[in-house]
Order: sequence, then structure tokens, then C-alpha cells
Amino acid sequence: MQGLTVTPEEPADVIAVRGLTRRFGDLVAVDDVSLSVAPGEFVVLLGLSGSGKSTLLRCLNGLHPVSAGEVEVLGTRVHAAPEAELRRLRTQVGFVFQAFNLVGRLSCVENVLTGALGRLRLPRYGVRSYGQNLRREALACLDRVGLADRAFQRAGTLSGGQQQRVAIARTLMQRPRVLLADEPVASLDPENAGSVMDLLVRVCAEEGLTVVCTLHQVDLALGWAHRLVGLNQGRKVLDRPAAGMDRADVMDVY
Ligand code: ADP
Ligand code: MG
Repeated sequence: MQGLTVTPEEPADVIAVRGLTRRFGDLVAVDDVSLSVAPGEFVVLLGLSGSGKSTLLRCLNGLHPVSAGEVEVLGTRVHAAPEAELRRLRTQVGFVFQAFNLVGRLSCVENVLTGALGRLRLPRYGVRSYGQNLRREALACLDRVGLADRAFQRAGTLSGGQQQRVAIARTLMQRPRVLLADEPVASLDPENAGSVMDLLVRVCAEEGLTVVCTLHQVDLALGWAHRLVGLNQGRKVLDRPAAGMDRADVMDVY
């Protein structure tokens, strides 16, 4: 009698995109793109302004409906999911923006606390009355981005690099499984851009997060990505592990 063969299960892709097309009227912003992202991968989407990076990123959590193709994230069929299911998915998908999107008049720790809203179904008011455990967790998140000493300072008074660190702490507070970052360092000077990328890559690795991060600077992409995916006028023109690549290898993107 033959014994049972046990094959270890391959970890499923966290993100699977097949033939994704997104049109705005006659304009094809994302053109027949397929892409898989494995658990824990840090993928950088590279491309000139207008190449479709942000549109692709928004299609991943259902902020844009797709015109054609399929998008699966954490097992959710995003292209076909009803709004309630998309809302559930978005609690597991952190988003970091170029413009930080903090509430400037609130303190850093209060901004970080708002990251827990989707996870805990708390009212959108009264962040000052959150329990002590949440407050401790928020302070720990700020500590992880090196800003424990700014916890009670108004977020709007911090530098750009510090504000993006607070935004990263807010995302940690959300306890997501996937992180989408749209040009997270585009408004920072080169030195701050490098240190925020360092931080982002480090905390995402510590959390085991799967990341898709758009960047338009080649040097940053080569320095930090596991894999580079290049877009040119909405089409995927590059998809390679970043190790060993140099500027000449990304010419198709520019
Ligand atoms: P990137 O992030 O790479 O700069 P985008 O995804 O923002 O590129 O834009 C891709 C193309 O889609 C551009 O030509 C842009 O003008 C167009 N586009 C993006 N969003 C919209 C929109 N909401 N309505 C119409 N056109 C849009
Ligand atoms: Mg963009």
C-alpha cells in the first residue's frame, strides 16, 4: 500500500495581478500588467511621472475599480469584491503617502493611535480617551521609528522626514499584513529620503510585511528593493530581482 505523500505547501502569493488594465476615458493608465508578490517581499514600482504607478497601487486595495483583469490581495478578489469586503481588506493593508497625511494639530501619539481605528472599530472621535494599553502600544510604535521623545508634540511642527516616520508608526499601529507606499520619500531631501527608506525597509522586515512601494528615483530603488518592477506608459517593462542590477539595467523604464 502506498503511503501518503505530504508535499509542503508553497506559501501563496500575497498579491497576484493578472492582465490588469485601468483606463480613464481614452487614456490607458495601466496597460495589461501582471505581477505576483510573495510574502515578505519588498517590491519597488519604478517609473517616470505619469507611468501609472499610483493607479496600479490604488487598484491593489480597490480605491480604483479595474477596467479589465484580476487583482487578488490576501485572498480577496479585489476586482470583484463588494465594498464591505474591500473595507475589511483595507484594515489589513497599510498605506503610506507622499504627503504623510497626518493631522497637524494633533500630537504625534494621537496620530499614531488613529492607525488602530479600522482594527478596533472605535468611534472616530475622542482619540484622547483611548485606553492605557493602546496608548502604550502607540508610544512603542513611535519608539520604533525613533520619535518617542516627540510623542506629545503637534505633528504639524515636525520636519518632513519626522512626519513620514510618524506616518510609518501609524501604519505599524494598524498591524497590517501588506504595505502600499506611494512615493514615500519624494518630498524629502536626499539624506532624509535615504534614512526614511532605511527605516521603512527595516520595520517591514521585522513585521514580515509584504510591500509594494513606488519610487521614481533609480538610486533609491536599486539600494533598497528586493525586486524592481518598471512601468513605462502603463506597461510593465521590467521585473527582476534588484541584487546586482545597476542603472543601465533600468533603461527601459526611462
Ligand atoms: P504615476 O503615479 O506613475 O505618476 P499615475 O498613476 O498617477 O502615474 O497616472 C497615470 C496616468 O493616468 C497619467 O497620465 C495620469 O494623468 C492619469 N490619471 C491618473 N489618475 C487619473 C484620474 N483620476 N483621472 C484621469 N486621469 C488620471
Ligand atoms: Mg504617482
